Amino acid sequence: MTERAAKDSRIRSGEPRGQDQQGQCVALRGEILTFLADPEYPNGDLNPDAWQHWSDGLVICRNGRIEAIGPADQLLPLLETDCALHDVRPGLILPGFIDTHIHFPQVDVMASYGETLMGWLNQYTFPTEQRLADATIARETADFFLKELLRNGTTSAVVYGTVHAHSVQAFFEASEALNTRMICGKVLMDRHAPDGLRDTAEQGERETRKLIETWHGRGRQQVVITPRFAVTSTPEQLRSAGNLLREYPDVYLQTHLAENRHEIETVRGLFPEAQDYVDVYDRHRLLSPRSIFAHGIHLSDRERERLSQSGSQVAFCPTSNLFLGSGLLDLAGLEAAGVTTSIATDVGAGTSFSLLQTLAEAYKVTHLQHQRFSPVKAFYRITLGNAKSLGLEAQIGSLAVGSEADLVVLDPEATPLLARRMQRCQSLQERLFAWMMLGDDRAISSTWVAGRCLHRRSAEPRKKEPTA
Ligand SMILES: [Zn+2]
Repeated sequence: MTERAAKDSRIRSGEPRGQDQQGQCVALRGEILTFLADPEYPNGDLNPDAWQHWSDGLVICRNGRIEAIGPADQLLPLLETDCALHDVRPGLILPGFIDTHIHFPQVDVMASYGETLMGWLNQYTFPTEQRLADATIARETADFFLKELLRNGTTSAVVYGTVHAHSVQAFFEASEALNTRMICGKVLMDRHAPDGLRDTAEQGERETRKLIETWHGRGRQQVVITPRFAVTSTPEQLRSAGNLLREYPDVYLQTHLAENRHEIETVRGLFPEAQDYVDVYDRHRLLSPRSIFAHGIHLSDRERERLSQSGSQVAFCPTSNLFLGSGLLDLAGLEAAGVTTSIATDVGAGTSFSLLQTLAEAYKVTHLQHQRFSPVKAFYRITLGNAKSLGLEAQIGSLAVGSEADLVVLDPEATPLLARRMQRCQSLQERLFAWMMLGDDRAISSTWVAGRCLHRRSAEPRKKEPTA
């Protein structure tokens, strides 16, 4: 690449989002993998044009965005002297991971024994969420949660707060301080929940509206309208959520759907006029391309079709589904029906913050149903795939020039076992599979947000002088 071509490939427009990043330049040298499109054809063949891979690459970030990316030998001579070069070899540089369904207040209920969905909510989750009535606890929990995401290589997430509006306020303040791109919402819940955890339809709408007006689009923060699920919202509250979704055309909606048989029976009793669970949400105008339905395990053909027609997405949460004994998601069936899917941890019913561990469980869930879950597609899912499901592929999910510079570096020698296994791998696919089956937070050597290193697992990587 000539110097002119390299400069031409750099970002020419767009204001930097990280205000403390003005003019700052960092470059990471290592193996690089980033996706341009879905790498798998419907018949399972891989499309090698759908990703970019450099065994010795360089990614240059300036003002919090990707400025240039390519082979190290071509880009290093062009590196400007103000750029701090981090050599992360033999690490693999990927876009930061994206989690489409997670509850920040539930950090403290992870690994609570022996329940299925409804018992788990009543026995563990609701008492824990009540503690966040205290704003200090909310802020401390948000800080811990965000740190834990970064330790696991997750740089963006779609997050539930509690019913307390101040929990979301605390979350956004913590996220804004880190300059992470986060989507969060206040839980709407006006029935079938204990004292202190219920709002009203009117209060829920007023508080959500205020959060949208304060936080949506402020820096990298975005708001999601968050009725917990049909059991805990009256028809009036669901209707108000649908009105908000229409009123704010770029705000998201998230809720839970068809996770557990007992839950489905309860919903049927509460909404006898609806033909099925999806119809409950449909009647209240909650289906849209900005709507994220967690789980969707037990769905009829009609429900899948309606989700597909409306462009709604289902977030697959394998560790949670296994932990609560909810069932095995028919991922291939959903995708064959045209439903957009994403992949998520669902902490705290999810058992790990790690999207690598989540991929491992997703592999087992699909394998049990004789479905394909290839490692290349798996890494696409937790990066560009999840970004696309949120309509954020221009901002995050890839290392394309102009994208926000959220990156993760995977360590092939994170554990003695991983290092030993990696030595036997012959291809990138094999190494990706080893990372997702054997990796967890230990495999994340560093996490970068808007071009700034916010997590480094061990000693600081060698910092070299620019070679040109
Ligand atoms: Zn959930």
